[in-house]
Amino acid sequence: MPGFELFGDSEKKQVQDVLDSGVLMRYGFDGMRNGHWKALELEKAISKRMQVEHTQLVSSGTAALTIAMASAGVGAGDEVILPTFTFVASFEAVLALGAIPILVDVDDTLTLNPAAVEKAINKKTKVVMPVHMCGSMAHLEALKAICAKHNVLLLEDACQAIGGSYKGKPLGSFGDLGCFSFDYVKTITCGEGGAVITNNSIFHKNADHYSDHGHDHVGNNRGAEDHPFLGYNYRISELNAAVGVAQIGRLDEFLKIQEKHYTILKNALSSIHGISFRAVPEGGVENYSFLSFFMPTEELAKKASVELAHAGLDACFYWYDNNWHYYKKWSHLTNLTSLGKLPKEVYEQLPDYTKSDFSLSDHWVGRNISCLIKLGWTKEEVKERAMKMAIVLKNII
Ligand SMILES: *Cc1c(COP(=O)(O)O)cnc(C)c1O
Repeated sequence: MPGFELFGDSEKKQVQDVLDSGVLMRYGFDGMRNGHWKALELEKAISKRMQVEHTQLVSSGTAALTIAMASAGVGAGDEVILPTFTFVASFEAVLALGAIPILVDVDDTLTLNPAAVEKAINKKTKVVMPVHMCGSMAHLEALKAICAKHNVLLLEDACQAIGGSYKGKPLGSFGDLGCFSFDYVKTITCGEGGAVITNNSIFHKNADHYSDHGHDHVGNNRGAEDHPFLGYNYRISELNAAVGVAQIGRLDEFLKIQEKHYTILKNALSSIHGISFRAVPEGGVENYSFLSFFMPTEELAKKASVELAHAGLDACFYWYDNNWHYYKKWSHLTNLTSLGKLPKEVYEQLPDYTKSDFSLSDHWVGRNISCLIKLGWTKEEVKERAMKMAIVLKNII
């Protein structure tokens, strides 16, 4: 997945442009910047590649999620449905607004189960947030229909799936809003950065203001701008955006490499009786950032993760036991451990997740292994890896 593996002259050239002009900020300083507007340039490139009207670049993927929801008017006490298997950023972004993260089950797609989503919707629900974990997507059409029926927004967290598509549309562009992360380990990176994409011009205007203190960006005198509403500073710097300008130009090159490596690994495991692969919804194309498969039992999955590591096959993750990605280890959320008081709605409305039944999620995530697909491997390395993986797994099953 990581774009940093293939860092080169184009990234250096873009950053050098910014350093030469000395303008590290995305707004203002028009006379000094030598025509360089890297954040604007990257926003245009993302809108084009993702086939959307608007892109707002921000400081991180987590910020992008918060801003996307804020731009649509989500606030204290509103409920946001998200999966049990995700990254902690998902619920952080919700809590940042005083909204309530409502966890629901994932299925064999390793992301939101539509039936579980429908069951969780009530009058307080404002957003359904599928998280396209490890490069593949939820049943987006089913989720969209549920959202339309209940007048709820669909927000795609496509932070791990940039470049994948669903029914011909780039992931992130199918919902009302979509988010990407460009942190250091994502498919393309800015060092740190994120983006909100949408076809809704009001959401975009709100996101633009909200991520820069609520400034309305009218006129050329920054100090004279008005503030239609409160905001924060979630700006991206020109230095970070410059790296992204180079990297977005290489996205399709990276995706091709990922697909090649993924296919070699998948073919090697396909003939092993007892192994099955993550379900990809009809019409979906992964971005191939991970190869995710299921072992026959939880015990065998645990064993596989240990044995793969012993064989030197790094970056094969058993998320079920991982502190970052599965609800069972999120005691800070369950106990609402915070440095200060949270909004009262959060204490009143957050479900007691220690008592929740997420047996469907356990059934799938408990048997899942996801192997990161690296860009830097040579063809020989991938082939050797595929052979070793197949031997380790055959021996276990
Ligand atoms: C990385 C990631 C985020 C957060 O992105 P940052 O840029 O690191 O803040 C959110 N959701 C998912 C699924 C991620 O993988």
